[in-house]
Formats: sequence, C-alpha cells, structure tokens
Amino acid sequence: MSKKLIIMARVNEYAPRDRNPHIPFTPEEIGEAAAACRAAGAAIVHFHARNDDGSPSHDPERYLATIRAIRERSDILIDCTLGQATIKGDEARAAHIARMKGGPAFRADLAAIDVGSTNIDVYDAAQKRFTTQDKTYVNNISTCMYLAKQMDDVGVKPHLTCWTIPFLRAADALLDMGVFQEPAYVQFAFCEGGIIGGHPCTIRSTLAFLDVMPANRRIEWTVTCKEGNLLPAAAVAIEQGGHISPGIGDYPYPELGAPTNAAVVDFFARMARAYGRETATPAEARAMLNIPG
Ligand code: ZN
Repeated sequence: MSKKLIIMARVNEYAPRDRNPHIPFTPEEIGEAAAACRAAGAAIVHFHARNDDGSPSHDPERYLATIRAIRERSDILIDCTLGQATIKGDEARAAHIARMKGGPAFRADLAAIDVGSTNIDVYDAAQKRFTTQDKTYVNNISTCMYLAKQMDDVGVKPHLTCWTIPFLRAADALLDMGVFQEPAYVQFAFCEGGIIGGHPCTIRSTLAFLDVMPANRRIEWTVTCKEGNLLPAAAVAIEQGGHISPGIGDYPYPELGAPTNAAVVDFFARMARAYGRETATPAEARAMLNIPG
C-alpha cells in the first residue's frame, strides 16, 4: 500500500478577497473552512489570525480564539504562523505560542519556522520595477533557535519552511544540533507572481530540493506555492512520497474558478488518489510527524 498523503490546507495567509471571495478572516470563518477542508481530505490547517477587516492580527487572544473555533468544529491538526515579515522581534513573533501553555484546547499542534532569510520584494515585470525595495524576511540562526525553544516549551512542533535550498541546509544543521527533532516536517515554499526570493514552482525546482535532501534524516516533506498553481510541485510530491500544502491563501486558483479551500483540497485529493495515494487522517498525520498528543 502506498504511503498516505498529508494535505495541509493553507486557508488564508494575508490574502485579500478581491481575487477570491472565499478567504476566511474571522475565527468562525477559519473554523468553518478548516472543517470543510477536513471533510475534503486535509489533515492539517495552516492559518494566519486576521482582524474582522482582514488586516493581520498579532493579538495572542485572536490566535487562541481561532484555535478554539477550529477545535470546536473538527479534529483537524492546527498549524499557525508567526506572522512572516508583518511583525518584528523574536519575542513578539512568538507571543501567541507562549500563551498556548493553557492547554490543548488553545494549543496549536504545529507552527511555522522559516529557517533562513530572503528578499521578498515583488518584481513587476510589466513595469520593469520592484514594488518595494526593502522587504527582507530575516530569520537568523539565533531566531530559529529561540523560536524552536519557545515551541518546545509549549509542546508545539515546528514545521520548517524552506524558501531556497540554503534553508534546507540550515534545517539539516539545526537537526544535527538537536535544535529540531526528527521526524522533521519540512516545507518547500515555491514562489511565483514576481516573488523572486524562492525557487519557481516547477518539476525541476522540486527535484533540486530533493537532490540536496539530507539522506540520513527522517524528513516528511511537503510543497506549497506562493502566488502560483501548486500542480507541478504537487505532481512530484505525490509521485515521490512527499506531501502537499495547497490553499487559496497562497493563490486564488482562477483555473478552478476561484474555488473554496475545500474545493482546492478536494481537487488535489482526487489527483493523489488517481496516483494511488490515499489522504492521511489527522490521527495518521499525527503519528507520521510524531506530534505530541
Ligand atoms: Zn502562512
């Protein structure tokens, strides 16, 4: 039997609703979207806390309220962000993680650590200019180690996001040091839409990551694509024993008619089944990733 496929639904990021109206903002909307994604085959939901108007929220209470709203509606595993480049300072970025000590009802199962730094300014090829010139997403080694400690203290497993191959090499070093534990959950984040701080979402880019994958480590890897269709990387991941992380938070999927998150999950789950891979339940994903109960 083929290895089960973990689908992590990336439901909102900081995407606006102009290109896809189904982006969830409030705790209730995120809870509903997560439950629908679970029914469609997702084992994990990744979310960003948002205010009612859609602006980024860094209020720990808003994170806890969203986690509670998700837990009330399904058994899906929960993965939250640390706010990407929208918030500065290690302590501020992990403030909501520290607040999760309250217990399982408020605690995420996973949270993202980006294991490296890159420029995330968007290049507008039509205008031949960058829309910004100073947006460097900084995650130095001490930040990674601080965030890992914060998560360890609370029992949240880090998911290690790699925008480029050097991020994967940093993850390997930090696994070697014991800062992160195996099995590691590593995410390759491909970039389209003028974001040039990561690799393009192609079959060859995905194979390039696999080419430098540490051979002696237990790593469950997944793929996502910022501002682009995940299909090329998803095909490789499904075929090569990886996992996938699609969602309308990353890309509005005009090819599929600007669908809901659940419809995107359903699309990729059908594709996986056609390759002979069934989707993992949250309990199966928990066991595969060794997430604390
Ligand atoms: Zn995110």
